[in-house]
Amino acid sequence: MRYFSTNRKSAHVSFREATLQGQPDDKGLYFPERIPKLSTNFWRDFPAKSKTQIAFEVIKPFVGGVMTDETLFRICDETVNFDFPLVKITGNIQTLELFHGATLAFKDVGARFMSRCLREFSNEKQEKTIVIVATSGDTGGAVANGFYDVDGVEVVILYPQGKVSKVQELQLTTLGKNISAIEVAGNFDDCQALAKTALADEDLKKRVFLTSANSINVARWLPQQFYYFYALQQWSISDSKFRIPDSNSEIQNPVICVPSGNFGNICAGILAHITGLPCEKFIAATNANDVIPNFLQTGKMEDKKSVATLSNAMDVANPSNFVRILEIFDNDFLNLKEKMESVSVSDEITAKTMREVHAKYGYVLDPHGAVGFYALEKYLEKHPEKSGFFLETAHPIKFDSVEQILGTYGETPESVRELFDKPKQSIEIRANYEDLREILLQRI
Ligand SMILES: *Cc1c(COP(=O)(O)O)cnc(C)c1O
Repeated sequence: MRYFSTNRKSAHVSFREATLQGQPDDKGLYFPERIPKLSTNFWRDFPAKSKTQIAFEVIKPFVGGVMTDETLFRICDETVNFDFPLVKITGNIQTLELFHGATLAFKDVGARFMSRCLREFSNEKQEKTIVIVATSGDTGGAVANGFYDVDGVEVVILYPQGKVSKVQELQLTTLGKNISAIEVAGNFDDCQALAKTALADEDLKKRVFLTSANSINVARWLPQQFYYFYALQQWSISDSKFRIPDSNSEIQNPVICVPSGNFGNICAGILAHITGLPCEKFIAATNANDVIPNFLQTGKMEDKKSVATLSNAMDVANPSNFVRILEIFDNDFLNLKEKMESVSVSDEITAKTMREVHAKYGYVLDPHGAVGFYALEKYLEKHPEKSGFFLETAHPIKFDSVEQILGTYGETPESVRELFDKPKQSIEIRANYEDLREILLQRI
């Protein structure tokens, strides 16, 4: 498979180059030259397939050629080594819990997959790799954990001092080894500016391979398809309604609702659908950052600044992955609107939904999941004959607001209890590139 730039001014590259480069020179996004279709063979024994086998078969056409099947299978196996349960909340709403991985969020999947691809590719290069990531919370932990102890890769995570939650900070700062957590006296934008300056430092780039593990990287984007298949596998078993494509059984495909910020996660789901995953409809649930819901209403893309909300991992004004969604639908607006709706949910409703779902069903939602639950519930009120699931993108304990709203985080996962016993290791710097550069030079 080869990848082109959505801006169409850069050369087509292999999966390997797309992963190493992250973004094409023309500032577009890499996109596969064609979207593969899953074969009838894939579906024949689908209900009984292992997670690793599904991951391998789904990703193989996208990766094909740049590593052996054996290596790719092992990478898939290491990537999906945790549970992805589909849990019933109401009569017609289930949730796909994506928070059972190392840092309790769906980003673990993409980060684990990408880190292992980089390990393979940097082994071939015999050159040290430094990954630089700026984080406002969730991304940093997933990347740090994904790359932990991966040979030949040093990871430098920049986070704004005092602006990430307790659990998020511990996930970043308690690893050690090849992971350096840098506590920047500034905000997230300062962290991002520092990372950008470093990635453009020509002198540094002569001595070491620098990359960003950005969420637009194909090696983080594509593996996010996996868990949509795991959800369908469980959907078929719990409701006996799942239709394997081309068979004649009863159909009742799920409506899939994805809490969205940068739209990478939902874009992976739509891609999976085009390859053959049965799905009734996608709902992109956003918080007050409503550029895409408005675009689907009016056809106009506004230029807005992001606003801070309870679901802060989705505080994105102009989602970068949306161009990939347009690409999937060949820029056909009507086609897109047929398959995808988008709804904006306010903080007030988010908090209210968390309280109601906790009181009625005893389920603790995090603010991102609450946005998803509400959008799906509203949709199903209008379409009572349908049913669906939403993605619970992170564990409630990662967000300090959950306790303020509900008075509880639900059950504390074992991994979080362990975190509190570990010493915090971080390096404090000013929001100043000279400080960061010194640290980077020590890592070469
Ligand atoms: C990153 C993140 C999102 C948004 O995902 P996108 O792929 O950027 O749309 C939603 N919820 C949580 C908890 C996240 O960390």
